[in-house]
Amino acid sequence: MITVKIFLLKVEKDQELEVRPLARAIPKPLSKETTERVRAITESMLGVDSERILNRATRGQALRDRIQGHLRGGQRLKVTLTDNTYTMISVKRMSSRATYELRLHHMFYDAPESIIVALARYVEDNDKDSSALLGDYIDANQTKVRPRKRQRAVNLETKGECHDLAEIYDELNRNYFGGGISASVTWGSKRSQTKRRRSIKMGSYSPDEKLIRIHRSLDRAFVPRYFVAWVLYHEMLHQIHPVRVKGGRRLVHPPEFLADERKFKQYEQAVAWQKKYIVHLLSY
Ligand SMILES: [Zn+2]
Repeated sequence: MITVKIFLLKVEKDQELEVRPLARAIPKPLSKETTERVRAITESMLGVDSERILNRATRGQALRDRIQGHLRGGQRLKVTLTDNTYTMISVKRMSSRATYELRLHHMFYDAPESIIVALARYVEDNDKDSSALLGDYIDANQTKVRPRKRQRAVNLETKGECHDLAEIYDELNRNYFGGGISASVTWGSKRSQTKRRRSIKMGSYSPDEKLIRIHRSLDRAFVPRYFVAWVLYHEMLHQIHPVRVKGGRRLVHPPEFLADERKFKQYEQAVAWQKKYIVHLLSY
């Protein structure tokens, strides 16, 4: 997604650093209100539910500790809990760093001890009996697997008042992706009244629905076609560069994404235009 924010958080009194002589400066805990606001901003920028992810991280740790105890080889173990629909277990064995990276469906969180042992055996030795046991466990816990999202009935509206998204999409797909992108595209919802915004999410991509939404604020005469194309191009890149997790952080725009972004012909122009006219985009 592309989100532009042009405001800064005001530093509140209770965020000021307390400096003690001969000691490190220890920040006082953020007020509840500030924490809440930071969380909301992070979520709107990343499009994630931080509460859910935090909870999952804690559970992943707990599960890691249980499995680690059954590993014989002394390798380090990393566990990530997923909400996958198809892949319930995947292991990356990285001999160079003596680390196993284990991705597990959250159904394993409260698994009984026998399953925990089986996971250890499976990770370490690819053990057949353990694998069969895990298969049975997965079958018995199918109800915890989120069914594949039904396509929400979305009214796709590609033809705006000033710009035709379908036309721009086809052109981009042909020129930059060899026709390899398969997504739907639509203008976002219409405004009910003009607002002054503090931020605007110009575009978004939903991998589940393979749907790109472009903010209606861009469907105006003063917005050049190449700028609409630029935002659309960015969202199309999200299909070929899915979110990557590195060192526990979600990389929504990994380096290879940013490199591809620069291949857009009017890259400099688009960035310059955005700087100059963002204020106008914000009032819609
Ligand atoms: Zn993005």
